[in-house]
Order: sequence, then C-alpha cells, then structure tokens
Amino acid sequence: MERLQKVIAHAGVASRRKAEEWIKEGRVKVNGKVVKELGIKVSPNDRVEVNEIPLEREAPVYFLFYKPRGVISSVKDDKGRKVVTDFFPFTDKRIYPVGRLDYETSGLLLVTNDGEFANLLTHPRHAIDKTYVAKVKGIPSKEQLRKLDKGIKLEDGVTAPARTKLLSSDNQKQTSIVEITIHEGKNRQVRRMFQAIGHEVLKLKREKYAFLTLQGLGTGDIRELTPHEVKQLR
Ligand code: URA
Repeated sequence: MERLQKVIAHAGVASRRKAEEWIKEGRVKVNGKVVKELGIKVSPNDRVEVNEIPLEREAPVYFLFYKPRGVISSVKDDKGRKVVTDFFPFTDKRIYPVGRLDYETSGLLLVTNDGEFANLLTHPRHAIDKTYVAKVKGIPSKEQLRKLDKGIKLEDGVTAPARTKLLSSDNQKQTSIVEITIHEGKNRQVRRMFQAIGHEVLKLKREKYAFLTLQGLGTGDIRELTPHEVKQLR
C-alpha cells in the first residue's frame, strides 16, 4: 500500500505537491469515488483516476540481484558511490531494493518496483529466513555460537534465535567461516551479533533469502524471479 499522492507522483503525471493539490480539489478518484483526504493509501489493485484519466501503473517487475561488495543498497548516493540501480540500465522502471545489504556485504538482494511486495517481505511479521556466510576473526567456540543461536543482547534489543554452523577454521590465520541464518533485519545485525561474542566479521555474503539462492549467478548478475517464485514469497 502506498500513499495516493506518492502513487500519482510515481506514475509521472505530476509532482507530489501537485498531486496533493489535485486530491484536495477533488480531481482524483479511487475505484470510482472522489477522494479528498491526503492520507489514504492505495494498493496496486485500486483503480486511480486523475482528472478523469485512469492512471497507468507500471507493470511490476521482480529481480534477484547478486550485489557485489562496494555497492549501496539504494537508488542514489550523495557521495557518488555505486548504487544498485546502476546495474539495471536496461529498465526505466522505478525499481528499488527490498531491504538492504551493507555497502561491504555482497550477495542476494531482491529488487522490485512493487511497493506492496517490498513492504510485505520486509515486515517483521513475515520473518523470512536469510542465510549469510561470514568470515570472522578468530575461532568461535561452540558456547559462543550457542549464544547467537539462543539470541544475544544488542543495544537495540535481544535478537531472535539464530541458526549457526561453523563451516571451517584456519588455525594459522586465526579466521573462521560461519554460516548463520536469521529472520530479522536489524541494522548491521550479523556484524553486531558476531561483535557481541568478540569475533569481528571480516567478510559477509548473503547466500539465501527464503528459498532463493545465488545458484548460477556471478557477482553483479541479475535474473528475473519466476511468477511462481513471486507467488511463493507472498
Ligand atoms: N547483517 C549485516 O551485518 N549486514 C548486512 O548487510 C546484512 C545483515
């Protein structure tokens, strides 16, 4: 669901301010009825008319993107760094990432222009499993990993139970590879969880999002989700 004025602005017929004026003037209809309040939200299924002309909504698109490190999970960056949409020159649709991966994190990121879909997937109630592979400093003990499995106190609350697995460790270099699955989306959560047990994350990659994997993709690659995958995610 998105605010009516935003939907109108996104359709490219007017600025958001102009759209607000039109709404107040009674020039906008939703499902055949004039709407004059600014706060109302509409879904992609609602019929919006502006000045008696049906609003053309963009057809929804859904992509799976293998985000490289050094890319901002955004559509623009004030500092001129690479952003996700730089990888999508083939579409002029108003796409954006579903949730975020840190600048330094690589891996699976969904990209869409369907706001309702993005909101649904990022809502805490949806609790989608996300699996990361982390290269960490040192060799975490079973007890330390168990702390992450149980939930660990961070400054913004206790994390929900996670699933961790020590995949390998290098005694000489004193580093380890750990797989971790979480279903929350706190800011820099995985990095902070490992920090909390004293093992700094050196490298982080998201390998799985729900049932989706990076299989067949290289860094920077993109594929469309199948209609069946989109349905399964909802
Ligand atoms: N956790 C992190 O710390 N970083 C990410 O990018 C994703 C999850």
